[in-house]
Amino acid sequence: MKQLKQLKQLKKRWYDYLWIASLLYLALGFFNILFAWLGLICFLLPLALSSSSKDKVYCNKFCGRGQLFELLGGRFNLSRRNNPPLFLRSAWFRYSFLTFFMAMFGLMIFTTLLVFQGKPLSETVKLLWVFNLPWRWTHTDWVFPWVAQFAFGFYGVMLTSTVLGLITMILFKPRSWCAYCPMGTMTQCICKLKYRKEESVFERESESNRGAFKNSGKPASVADYVRFDGEQ
Ligand code: SF4
Repeated sequence: MKQLKQLKQLKKRWYDYLWIASLLYLALGFFNILFAWLGLICFLLPLALSSSSKDKVYCNKFCGRGQLFELLGGRFNLSRRNNPPLFLRSAWFRYSFLTFFMAMFGLMIFTTLLVFQGKPLSETVKLLWVFNLPWRWTHTDWVFPWVAQFAFGFYGVMLTSTVLGLITMILFKPRSWCAYCPMGTMTQCICKLKYRKEESVFERESESNRGAFKNSGKPASVADYVRFDGEQ
């Protein structure tokens, strides 16, 4: 048993430790809010990877936040490990939450534009879209006000999604946040669209070519693309 555990640890890859980057990101925002800009990597990389690869590679390998919930809820036993309620996994909830999340993101961009046009900078981080947390100790005088405003807004988005993820981690299974995570929903949509495109090509293939397509390593069904990450 001990040997098996050691073997597992030896097999760990660099990307198994990306949860450290997630923690570091949150911590750096306390020292200087401008580090919040780094969060754009977590926003753009999943979209780029799901567009260029055949499955949700970001979710399955590179998401530090998913790893963090797994670690806290699993190894540190902070999760009650209940099944998430069905509505949390339903398509209507996931798409409604994505729509709401993107609307709030749009509002954050709009506020940044207003500051760009001369409105005073608001040195607060909005938590759960309602609570304005004062964040005046970070020094942002050396950048344009709109650069700082975007950082405050974006950090609020990242903090809010982390808090929601932690709450669902405690109440349900460790990665229950993944069931309605907006990034996960977006990457899933991209994978589904890609699958449909490839499926239509597939249907136009002759029977002889179809065999070759099947052996090419392409997914056999939409289920190969889509995985409910909340299931442990
Ligand atoms: S669904 Fe969201 S939190 Fe979960 S692994 Fe994917 S990007 Fe990360």
